[in-house]
Amino acid sequence: MTTIFAGNDRLAEEVLDLAGIGIGPSNLSLASILDGVEGIKSRFFESRAEFDWHPGMMLPDVELQSSYLKDLVTPVVPTSPWSFVSYLVAHKRLYAFLNAHYDAVPRREFAQYLSWVAGRLPNLAFGSEVREVKHERDQFVLRFDQGSARARNIVLGTGTTPFVPAWAAPFIGERCFHNSEARYRLPDLDVARVAVIGGGQSGGEVVEALLNAKPGLKELNWFSRRHNFEPINDTAFSNQVFSPEYVYAFLNLNHDQKLEALKTSILTSDGLSLSTINSIYRRLYSLRYLEHRQIDAKLSPGRDVIQLEPAKEGYRLIVRNRFDGGVEVAHADAIILATGYQFRLPRAVEPLQDRIQFDRHGRPVLQDDYSLVWTGPKHNRIMAQNAGRYSHGIADSQLSLMAWRSAHIVNTLLGRQHFDLEPHDSQINWLSSGHDTASQSIAVDY
Ligand SMILES: Cc1cc2nc3c(=O)[nH]c(=O)nc-3n(C[C@H](O)[C@H](O)[C@H](O)COP(=O)(O)OP(=O)(O)OC[C@H]3O[C@@H](n4cnc5c(N)ncnc54)[C@H](O)[C@@H]3O)c2cc1C
Repeated sequence: MTTIFAGNDRLAEEVLDLAGIGIGPSNLSLASILDGVEGIKSRFFESRAEFDWHPGMMLPDVELQSSYLKDLVTPVVPTSPWSFVSYLVAHKRLYAFLNAHYDAVPRREFAQYLSWVAGRLPNLAFGSEVREVKHERDQFVLRFDQGSARARNIVLGTGTTPFVPAWAAPFIGERCFHNSEARYRLPDLDVARVAVIGGGQSGGEVVEALLNAKPGLKELNWFSRRHNFEPINDTAFSNQVFSPEYVYAFLNLNHDQKLEALKTSILTSDGLSLSTINSIYRRLYSLRYLEHRQIDAKLSPGRDVIQLEPAKEGYRLIVRNRFDGGVEVAHADAIILATGYQFRLPRAVEPLQDRIQFDRHGRPVLQDDYSLVWTGPKHNRIMAQNAGRYSHGIADSQLSLMAWRSAHIVNTLLGRQHFDLEPHDSQINWLSSGHDTASQSIAVDY
């Protein structure tokens, strides 16, 4: 892997047009799209020593929840050398891959594709944690442990942070942890009773791993707040929320309308894959009826865990049943929190915090063109990726539109429509008839 570290003299001297903070799929997509675009001098910085995509959740057999064609580049630059298909061809396995007839691509395969791109693009610096970002004389100054870099614009691609509910925070450790650490902690977890909190895809993947790989497991409690262990809504019309046209329509809504739209479309993104549901169900069936193993597996949807307490052995959970209003007590030796992720500004931008506008929920205000509202000069933009679930819609926290979003960011920085992102004629009428469809694109204030 060709790796450039941040701390070199040349970097401290030159002024970049764009510095990227974090190299996950979002900024890797932007770097890939920028490759081949003249006029933007960019460099991206990542704290990890090499590219690694959610390594703590790389459990056996986990699958991608989106199409491999929605890769880093294809929806915008289908001829790019950084597409998933290019990766398959370069590894001489296109035919083998096609013959595998995957309903969903293994996440391991997609992660290998991302690493392959990350190892080839020239302007990525690994092992370079951005410690601090200041704004001085019309430039952002990024400080690393060794050295610094200067840029006229920055783009945050630092992803989301594991969410730990307040009731669990005092207990975080070896036997109470977020699913983002599952791959490291599960192998050494040698307990009889486990509670998994959260009925989304991550919770399902953890439950599947426990049932498959923990012969000593005697009791499993799986709690979900949802009415049931709900499948992802992956059907044709529902999937339209992952289209540019939907984002253009969504941007027209007011705050409350956006929240309502998010609530009603939640299962297009946050539900369980059918393969995970079937695998768990069949494993439970096999354990019970075919292997006659004594596992007390309690699947409890419609539950809010409201309190966690230390017990004589392990933990006691106090749980409210949303279905009938009852309050229950459960016990476990280990707690795994599959309680989601949330966007937060990275600590490195704290020096800019007072100049950034936040909404009443404490979220930075993201403009339609993916730049944050701040009091600095207009020509010094703070762009943010994966920060717009509440402003741009449910797709923003997914891979689906990352290439399209990257192209928007490039257009904004160039000050012209380098990429044609005019909306297609949507088959679904999202907005009221009479609405000016010409306004359904992202207005960029050059
Ligand atoms: C387990 C899991 C599976 C998912 N699967 C899918 C899926 O199948 N399909 C889909 O559409 N979406 C999926 N998602 C949702 C989403 O696509 C991913 O979360 C995706 O990784 C988001 O990419 P990102 O680049 O925005 O952030 P991340 O992947 O989180 O990357 C952020 C990067 O920034 C780095 N960083 C942070 N702070 C600094 C700093 N100060 N300096 C330098 N570097 C820094 C981090 O080390 C990290 O590498 C999944 C999410 C999870 C958690």
